[in-house]
Amino acid sequence: MIAKFWGVRGSIPCPGPTTYKYGGNTACIELRFPGTDRIVIIDAGSGIRELGNHLVANELPKGPLVADIFLTHTHWDHILGFPFFAPIYIPGTRLNIYGPVTFENDSLRNIVGGQLSYQYFPIRQSELAADISYHSLKEEKVELEDGIVITTKYLNHPIACLGYRIESNGKTFCTAYDTEPFQNLFCTDPADPTYDEGMATEGELVAREQNERLEAFIAGADLLVYDAQYTREEYEASRRGWGHTAIEDVVSLAHKLGIRSTALFHHEPVRTDDQLDELAATHCNPGQSNHSEIFFAREGMQIEL
Ligand SMILES: [Zn+2]
Ligand SMILES: [Zn+2]
Repeated sequence: MIAKFWGVRGSIPCPGPTTYKYGGNTACIELRFPGTDRIVIIDAGSGIRELGNHLVANELPKGPLVADIFLTHTHWDHILGFPFFAPIYIPGTRLNIYGPVTFENDSLRNIVGGQLSYQYFPIRQSELAADISYHSLKEEKVELEDGIVITTKYLNHPIACLGYRIESNGKTFCTAYDTEPFQNLFCTDPADPTYDEGMATEGELVAREQNERLEAFIAGADLLVYDAQYTREEYEASRRGWGHTAIEDVVSLAHKLGIRSTALFHHEPVRTDDQLDELAATHCNPGQSNHSEIFFAREGMQIEL
């Protein structure tokens, strides 16, 4: 399996001279499976625009484009590149778009394709040339052809958000972003008037169980792409509950589980290249050969699992 990062940022595209090295596009990862023609894409952030252009230039000459797009969730930074994904305008293109929806009465077609409406964009969804099918996902297993198995797990984010575990040919690729550690949702302070001992204990158990389930979900990954938007200091100061993880927590999780290779992902948009380099010097160990490499994902980076 080969993974390529086309967008690594969180929240909003942030191109410019201070983000040149790591890249300013939002989430998009391409997966290829040598020996097959299959193209799997995780997320349609602004990075998918460049990927689309690349596919049109390099794959389209061989025949119509066929791809499976798995959206982690429908926050804007993960879908805003879709209207600029050139293959949707090319007859013969076939796309399957998978992702979670938070409310049953909302469809992926409306949320994702709805960006192509006159209020936002000069072209309407009904004018697209590609054949696009939408599939809403919960926690489940999807088997693609060519022996590719995809398992999903709900993460801890303000809306329904899925982690993906993709297995092929004995290799495992996992994503867990946008997410933060599951926490007790009930008051744990006995001095607080809303405190209820039963609820506090139950909340503790649920949080622990969910964290353990996520650990089991990512365990054994050859490459893990994990949310690392904040530093611990930023997280503790004001960002708890926003659905993102502190770099320090990802690093200890990766060590605890012995993950072979961990890409820190969904970088804070205000983070400059210099700041990411500094954080990397403190927290990362790229090129580590003892099966516990940790690095900041960079746009254009390609990794063979
Ligand atoms: Zn995001
Ligand atoms: Zn999000």
